[in-house]
Amino acid sequence: MPIATVNPANGETLKTYEAMGEEEIERRLQLAQATFRTYRTTSFAERARLLHRAADLVDEDQRDIGRVMTTEMGKPVKQARAEAAKCAKAMHWYADHAEELLADEEPAAFDVKDSGASRALVRYRPLGPVLAVMPWNFPLWQVVRFAAPALMAGNVGLLKHASNVPQTALYLEDLFHRAGFTEGTFQTLLIGSAAVDEILRDERVKAATLTGSEPAGRAVASTSGEMVKKTVLELGGSDPYVVMPSADIDRAAQVAVTARVQNNGQSCIAAKRFIVHTDVYDAFAERFVEGMKALKIGDPLEDETEVGPLASEQGRADLEELVDDAKRSGASVLCGGERPEGPGWYYPPTVLAGIDREMRIHREEAFGPVATLYRAADLDEAVLIANDSPFGLSSNVWTRDENEVDRFVRDLEAGGVYVNGMTASHPAFPFGGVKRSGYGRELSGHGIREFCNITTVWHG
Ligand code: NDP
Repeated sequence: MPIATVNPANGETLKTYEAMGEEEIERRLQLAQATFRTYRTTSFAERARLLHRAADLVDEDQRDIGRVMTTEMGKPVKQARAEAAKCAKAMHWYADHAEELLADEEPAAFDVKDSGASRALVRYRPLGPVLAVMPWNFPLWQVVRFAAPALMAGNVGLLKHASNVPQTALYLEDLFHRAGFTEGTFQTLLIGSAAVDEILRDERVKAATLTGSEPAGRAVASTSGEMVKKTVLELGGSDPYVVMPSADIDRAAQVAVTARVQNNGQSCIAAKRFIVHTDVYDAFAERFVEGMKALKIGDPLEDETEVGPLASEQGRADLEELVDDAKRSGASVLCGGERPEGPGWYYPPTVLAGIDREMRIHREEAFGPVATLYRAADLDEAVLIANDSPFGLSSNVWTRDENEVDRFVRDLEAGGVYVNGMTASHPAFPFGGVKRSGYGRELSGHGIREFCNITTVWHG
């Protein structure tokens, strides 16, 4: 894939970039290693000062970087500005909390004595340069979610961003420099995915994190496995959204629309499979379809637009294939389901019903504004359908019955259970999945400790 900005609203190529050559990559790896030697000794207070500054800069840049993101990958510009604001918030959060999250841990006095020590503690030390392989769907947030904790922990970052968001990638490197971090603390490598393997094999790179598709995750994890390097993987999702009879159906249907079409439907934590108790199925389906039909589709640079184009032509073709496969196998189309005429990679909000296990869309991630509806006879069947997926990122359940909530929290195979609301990440809560959605966690104390050398310090 060429490294280029191609506007998804009209297919126009706006900027292309040469991939960095071997020499430039080598220079940057050397710089990362050299910077780490000193950066690791900086205080939390110093790192926090710089990260707060980076957060303020993102806030100031919100309008400009919002437009860049929209032009590169097509998300509605209001959502792009909100993404920038979210990044600033997460940076402030880690600047404020990292020291406490990584404070020395004191084992219980009894255990210290039992080990024969006079004193013992656990200290979180940084690992070194960490490679982040990142996707285009939240081009700023996915990177900040890695960079804020990594830099606060004393690591340095190397970013290999998706090839279709080079301007956002370069903005990020510039942002950290402007904030005052020394040059090698955060670097963008403008490279294609074929160059990742060799970098992962380089001894100077100590760990890797990837957000993206399963094949990309598998490639990075297997090389890292061979090299015995730590990885965190955040891969796809096909999150269930379960609606039970005691729920507020109007609200559940309204939130369902947002949960499905946020970011033009291209979010790993978007609700994708809507599993509705038979007693409220018709009422929910009617309101949900009405809501999906009422969305304003259009130019993503317009503030009023709620759904813009998909990020790439290939992404639209992949989504279309999933829908066509379901239609051929007998799914009914309650709205959407046909690619519109005209320029840009638009695909309409679509609701499919009558889904069965053999359809590809039941097992694969629909990365676009396409929802599937399932009817469940009772809670047990709802859980069965929800868990009948290779993915296990997050889940949403709507019920006012506390016993049902307990059952869902006990039984749903996912890294999150959001009750009477939609999944949204927050810096204070761990984020990640089980099954083919990946492993490890981002955000919160769990996220910042992923790339630390958890060191036992024992005194005789
Ligand atoms: P990819 O997984 O291909 O891209 C994500 C990142 O991984 C990019 O930086 C990409 O680089 C890189 N990459 C791709 N292949 C490799 C590899 N073999 N080794 C190392 N790095 C690699 O996602 P796509 O954009 O192709 O989207 C395909 C599907 O992936 C989507 O339809 C969706 O289902 C899923 N996806 C999920 C995301 C999530 O948030 N969970 C985000 C994005 C996609 P480059 O751009 O240069 O190829």
